[in-house]
Amino acid sequence: LEPKEEFQHSSLTADVMRPRRSDPPLAVLTQEGMTVEEVEALVESTHYSGFPVVVSQDSHRLVGFVLRRDLLISIDNARKRQEGVVGASQVVFTEHSPAPADDAPPPLRLRGIVDLSPFTVTDHTPMDITVDIFRKLGLRQCLVTHNGKLLGIITKKDILKHMANDCQQRPRLHPLQLKPLPLRH
Ligand code: ADP
Repeated sequence: LEPKEEFQHSSLTADVMRPRRSDPPLAVLTQEGMTVEEVEALVESTHYSGFPVVVSQDSHRLVGFVLRRDLLISIDNARKRQEGVVGASQVVFTEHSPAPADDAPPPLRLRGIVDLSPFTVTDHTPMDITVDIFRKLGLRQCLVTHNGKLLGIITKKDILKHMANDCQQRPRLHPLQLKPLPLRH
């Protein structure tokens, strides 16, 4: 996002983030309880560059963010090289987890690839502030929360598309031109 690009806007992050009402729900991973097969199915059924990791589907408490690329590489490596890791193995993003049952395949521990401090904004954050954060921190994506719960995601491309639409809809006016012209005598 170019620093000089204009963005005079009153919309909120909730207006630009995904998913929209008509979109499928946010694709998330749970910190434990999913199998390698389930994670692979989720990743392969979408094209997203990354996935938030949450405590549970019910709580939607944010744990971190994992890149699609890192997930695929780690699962592929583990399947090839890690003794006993199969489709039914549990994927574990937590630090500690209860020992698996005797007959269960060994878990695949992937905490190492999780960004545990992803940037977040709230859905009520004005878009000009969110745009500023993207510019200043050079972000590609940012997670959106509401009352501490994960609600959505916003990417740099989402912002660029929104800005492009906005420019098409509203002719660019100098702020002073928005005021009524003074009457001429
Ligand atoms: P980009 O916006 O750079 O193409 P992505 O491919 O990651 O990046 O995202 C494509 C679209 O899907 C964007 O509108 C984004 O907000 C949304 N999105 C990204 N990740 C997810 C996800 N895990 N679940 C649902 N939607 C997502």
